[in-house]
Amino acid sequence: MILNFINGQYRQGRGGRSFSDMNPVDGSLIAQVSEATREDVDDAVNAARDALAGPWGALKLSQRCDLLYAVAAEIDRRAEDFVAAEVADTGKPRSLASHLDIPRGAANFRVFADAVRNVATETFTSHAPDGEPTLNYALRRPKGVVAVICPWNLPLLLMTWKVGPALACGNTVVVKPSEETPATAALLGEVMNSVGIPKGVYNVVHGFGPESAGEFLTTHPGVDAITFTGETRTGAAIIRASAAGIKPVSMELGGKNPAVVFDDADLDATIAGLTRSVFENSGQVCLGTERVYVQRRIFDAVVQRLASAAARLRPGRPEDPATTLGPLISAEHQRKVLDYFALAKAEGATAVCGGGVPDVSHELKAGAWVEPTVWTGVAHESRVAREEIFGPCCAVIPFETEAEALRMANDTPYGLAASVYTSDVARAHRFAGALRVGVVWVNSWFVRDLRTPFGGSGASGIGREGGVHSLEFYTELSNVCIKFNGEAQ
Ligand code: NAD
Repeated sequence: MILNFINGQYRQGRGGRSFSDMNPVDGSLIAQVSEATREDVDDAVNAARDALAGPWGALKLSQRCDLLYAVAAEIDRRAEDFVAAEVADTGKPRSLASHLDIPRGAANFRVFADAVRNVATETFTSHAPDGEPTLNYALRRPKGVVAVICPWNLPLLLMTWKVGPALACGNTVVVKPSEETPATAALLGEVMNSVGIPKGVYNVVHGFGPESAGEFLTTHPGVDAITFTGETRTGAAIIRASAAGIKPVSMELGGKNPAVVFDDADLDATIAGLTRSVFENSGQVCLGTERVYVQRRIFDAVVQRLASAAARLRPGRPEDPATTLGPLISAEHQRKVLDYFALAKAEGATAVCGGGVPDVSHELKAGAWVEPTVWTGVAHESRVAREEIFGPCCAVIPFETEAEALRMANDTPYGLAASVYTSDVARAHRFAGALRVGVVWVNSWFVRDLRTPFGGSGASGIGREGGVHSLEFYTELSNVCIKFNGEAQ
């Protein structure tokens, strides 16, 4: 049984209810998950408040950071346990979890401990507009209890991307992991206890969204801020539900990310980049590419080479080193992606490769498999080219001029990430600057320096996190103004 982690203890939900955590590789049951009730969420929020007022709030900054470095070291030491739990929940190839998800989980504690150690607050003497000499400085205080609501695609990585900075800034957290992937959030409780993080600083409640742990948490009066990663529609529901409490929100939402390939691009590097950005994690990466705009002269070559790369991907069990493609997260998500495949055909598209369910071995048949798929003949205006699918697929669309490529790339309500492939440096800068997205990669994809601002614009989110930028969300600024002459005003 996967349990809630409240006030340093693993606990059954008070209602005695549980739900099933399924393995998407073969549809088998991994474990039952104990569902948190509203009272359990109350307990978690109260524990987080007590820790804030008590042992956690009393620590010196250096002591807090040392504990976070210890969390990172313990995740590294127990990497095998985390990889096993993440792989079972998501079905992703073991190599991906052990190279990306779990090391990033540890790095997220180190990076933000470093960030808060190194930041200095601005102090300045000045004359106020009326000429009074004053000293002004700004204090940063933790926001308080932060609710962390997470998706299933990169469970530990994305959760620690929020928990790391929240704790580094002195907050306490209540985490609601995705109901699809509860295991690593639960396991992190053991790490917190073993390195001596005070009880109540890190809490986990399991359950669903509406009328369940997610909503109980985001509407809870004891929660001071909400940080959310997930679908745009869910983000909007959380903003609505939390509005009465005027809670600050950080929203990392969906995308329909373009890659733009100019005809002067290095084709080998371009195909390598596109193959990762379209198919890694079976396309279930918020930053992944679903629209590929290719300059007409090299359109056929890019389509053919991308389709060949897709055809070489091997579905299979995560532990098999030959496996390069995992399943989707669930049968439900598989149905959604296959519905989009049907829609693409109905909209007149051609699947250059894939377009259905791959031929997997008998014992994997009940898994949520989908073929890597490359579409051509997709109209820029069609739904397949406009809506986030979140599967191993892309539409490849030709363009003639830079202006046309820019117009199509920006013609979306989303604004998360984009890639530009070109050998013309001036064009790379010009184009990157004109894209309305939060992150642009030039001749690459998903290369991350965790100190840089990360987030989306438009329907892709609110706010930027990363390095010192996370401080803007996880702390409150207070201005202190000291008037130099002694007269009261
Ligand atoms: P989701 O929105 O369905 O669920 C995310 C979390 O929200 C889950 O824990 C879920 O239980 C919870 N939830 C659902 N309804 C809720 C409600 N009304 N109140 C409170 N909590 C609620 O997203 P998902 O399917 O788990 O993840 C995939 C989505 O996440 C994609 O759209 C993807 O683009 C996005 N994503 C974005 C980023 C980013 O950084 N921008 C990163 C990863 C994933």
